Amino acid sequence: MADRRKKTKIVDSYVTLQAAQRRAQDRPVPTPSEADSAATRPDTSPRKPGTHIGRTVMPTKYEIVCYSCDFMFKITGKAKNTYCPKCRTMLDLADHTITGVCTDELVTAGRVTLSSSAVLDGGRITANDVKLEGTVKSGHLQVHHTLELTEGAVIPEEMIHTRNLKIAAGASISFKRKAVFRDVDVFGEFRANLWAEGLVTVHPGGHLKGKLHASHFTVLEGGGLTADVIVEPKKPQPQTTPSPADKDAHEDKR
Ligand SMILES: [Zn+2]
Repeated sequence: MADRRKKTKIVDSYVTLQAAQRRAQDRPVPTPSEADSAATRPDTSPRKPGTHIGRTVMPTKYEIVCYSCDFMFKITGKAKNTYCPKCRTMLDLADHTITGVCTDELVTAGRVTLSSSAVLDGGRITANDVKLEGTVKSGHLQVHHTLELTEGAVIPEEMIHTRNLKIAAGASISFKRKAVFRDVDVFGEFRANLWAEGLVTVHPGGHLKGKLHASHFTVLEGGGLTADVIVEPKKPQPQTTPSPADKDAHEDKR
């Protein structure tokens, strides 16, 4: 028995899993060397291809847009904070739920829920994702990733600043102005003159009405579309944005 345990200490990729199972079954009192290895060599050690476990559930990936430089990247699972890979700003990923009158300033790269009793009145909210069940009256709401409008959502069109839009099931939202977004997901009823730079998806139970100008759109089974549709291939994005120096140069010429 002692011999066998000694052998399992020489852990290579082949016996890693077996050793872990054995440890779980008859957890011996760890010797100092075992305690060290357990503390310093957790699951973070790179797995060799042979040790891949097929039934591993992949953790959820979140798209985060840096509130400092607007760079979009993905993180896996939920963390308290993360660094923007581009500008190195430390981004707070905390989620918040607002229930009353909000007059404060709140900045997060997490998710903010404005519940049905919430009123944004003079406050300033910057968030990655916002679920709006309540009212936006005055102030500023900057959504860097996705704004979700639910059944009770009240917000003046001119106060909507978001990259992606989601119309929740049960919601009936009407826009009068030309609405420009990247991705749009319609689970409820949405009437708009919609220009989407990304993907428009009408989900089962959803209905998109009005005008649609998009490069990609999908109507899933059970979704409705009653709209004038123009589908155009996406124009290539300009590769370079003018630097401040270029801008100055242009201004000098004038
Ligand atoms: Zn950044």
